[in-house]
Amino acid sequence: MVKIFIDPGHGGSDPGATGNGLQEKTLTLQIALALRTILTNEYEGVTVLLSRTSDRTNAANNWGADFFLSIHINSGGGTGFESYIYPGVGAPTTTYQSEIHSEVIQAVDFSDRGKKTANFHVLRESSMPALLTENGFIDTVTDANKLKTSSFIQSLARGHANGLEQSFSLQKTSDSGVYKVQIGAFKVKANADNLASSAESKGFDAIVLLKDGLYKVQIGAFSSKDNADALAARAENAGFDAMVFLES
Ligand SMILES: [Zn+2]
Repeated sequence: MVKIFIDPGHGGSDPGATGNGLQEKTLTLQIALALRTILTNEYEGVTVLLSRTSDRTNAANNWGADFFLSIHINSGGGTGFESYIYPGVGAPTTTYQSEIHSEVIQAVDFSDRGKKTANFHVLRESSMPALLTENGFIDTVTDANKLKTSSFIQSLARGHANGLEQSFSLQKTSDSGVYKVQIGAFKVKANADNLASSAESKGFDAIVLLKDGLYKVQIGAFSSKDNADALAARAENAGFDAMVFLES
């Protein structure tokens, strides 16, 4: 099992960089959630932990992550994508940087600012290979306009996923049946909608589906049962009543 720790840069009272009506903490969370969805839906043998706490690197260390990925948006004038590892860290971190960096550049229309090193706290304190990506400049209009579209956010996540696939030899799951995670079923649509928005507010991707005369609130669908169970456990921790069932 490969353990990928994703750190959506900033959060809470720390918005990170701001500009053009955007906040870095919101964008980094969007990219991180999209990346988690791709990795858990499409690959087997991978678990993802996402953290917003201030003690991010400690959480990754305690979890025994195989890789620490910190996602950021740049500011200060400029344009394009760049990535950072800790100075002098060597392989395999340098290999992971090359693979993920070039996959992101291939996936999105961003100029390549290069593979860099820096003595950043999150890179220094991680006991596992760690990479920090700077995904465009929030205070540059052309970059900000790209970051405002969800398809661009998806492509950024896809680029990171493609790189992680290479770095950790991740295998795509085969598609035989789908494990769905459901947190409620209602006769009244408004009740389902309420539960869905409460799930959304806690960071889940919720959809309402009408099936067999009931409005069902679903927060995920996976080909791997492990991933469905992991999401159900996360939902239970957040106070929801989650169940997993196989639909072929
Ligand atoms: Zn940042």
